[in-house]
Amino acid sequence: PSLENPEYFNDSHGVKIEGYYINHSLTNIDSTIVFGSPVGLTYFSPEDASQSKWSPAIVFTKLSILGNRSANTQNEPSTHQLPIYQAKEVTLQPEDLVFSIEFSALDLSAPTFNQYQYKLNGFDTTWNTTSSSNRVATYTNLDAGSYTLMVKGTNKDGIWSDQVGEITITVIPPWWLTTWAKVLWISIIVALLIGFYRRRVYALQKRSDLLSIQVEERTAELEAMNKKLLRLSTIDDLTGLRNRRDFRNNALQELSRCKRGGDPFCILLIDIDYFKQVNDVNGHICGDKVLIETAQVMQSHIRQQDFLARWGGEEFIMMIVDTDIEQGVQIAEKIRLAVAKNIVEYEEQEICVSITIGVSQITADEELDVCINRADKNLYLGKNDGRNRVVAD
Ligand code: GH3
Ligand code: MG
Ligand code: MG
Repeated sequence: PSLENPEYFNDSHGVKIEGYYINHSLTNIDSTIVFGSPVGLTYFSPEDASQSKWSPAIVFTKLSILGNRSANTQNEPSTHQLPIYQAKEVTLQPEDLVFSIEFSALDLSAPTFNQYQYKLNGFDTTWNTTSSSNRVATYTNLDAGSYTLMVKGTNKDGIWSDQVGEITITVIPPWWLTTWAKVLWISIIVALLIGFYRRRVYALQKRSDLLSIQVEERTAELEAMNKKLLRLSTIDDLTGLRNRRDFRNNALQELSRCKRGGDPFCILLIDIDYFKQVNDVNGHICGDKVLIETAQVMQSHIRQQDFLARWGGEEFIMMIVDTDIEQGVQIAEKIRLAVAKNIVEYEEQEICVSITIGVSQITADEELDVCINRADKNLYLGKNDGRNRVVAD
């Protein structure tokens, strides 16, 4: 306030203002001031006027809230005005968008000269200065938390108050940001993650189970296929007997076993007599039937431990283990008779074939083929001798 301005002075300066005319004052060249009134003039020097040393207390006078508090009943934001003279604390709801707190310094001698500063601790970093015509602090959209509004003021003479007015402002978070809600959100997210993880693990497990089932199926298929291939590679198509290769493999194994144990071992080479005639007279299909049935007859007359194979064409080979040449000849005779007795029926015809058998016993340190060759020679001798007979070494 300017001490040169006559408007500044009033009762508090000991100036009697009642009855003075408006605008009837002036400042002299020597800075003295003169007021005019019907009761005379008042004349004084401003330096003599007393300055107030009183430090005013700060009070909060009004709280205004603009927000959506009544949003349930009306769409327009509403203002709530609450008295806060006694309040030490103000609690704001999440929907309180804007709030204003008015304040006043308790120096009412010349309130228009009072100055103010305020600061919201927790939000402002510096003091805001305002005048007596705007004694209000307004804030919008504060984050949830606790703040302190501090206000200080001057008396009309610019003396700052000793005490600072303080009011705590607590902004409540919306329900979805409260601690419990945060715990809930985190729990939900964790539960979702666990759920997702479990689903993924379950899906992967299911997939892996499916894959292992498929692998098992494929393996079983492959094993079946292998068995089939093995069968095909060891079995003669037409007669179902072992083929030549399978016979050789097994015969070599049996031979070494028999040699280790010093057991005797015989090879029978069997050939159907005049088989070409069967084909020529009755046809190839009939020939096949004769081959199949002859094989069956011979197979039914051998022991478990012996084995019979198709050597090629209408020739068969048999290996008889733990058997010397005499026993071998007996077995060969039995087989020859069985074949000779067997009648093959084909298209109302009865076909009978005989076989000639060459028998040979393997001797120590002899190769399999040497024994087979000897049996073959015996077979040749049997053929030359008139067929349908057994010839041994
Ligand atoms: P031998 O008494 O001297 O043994 O006279 P063979 O007629 O039996 O002997 P040969 O070697 O002259 O004839 C054998 C015939 O067997 C010739 C061939 O066409 C026939 N043959 C060979 N394999 C098969 C077959 O799988 N099916 C049929 N139907 N015939 C076959
Ligand atoms: Mg032959
Ligand atoms: Mg023949």
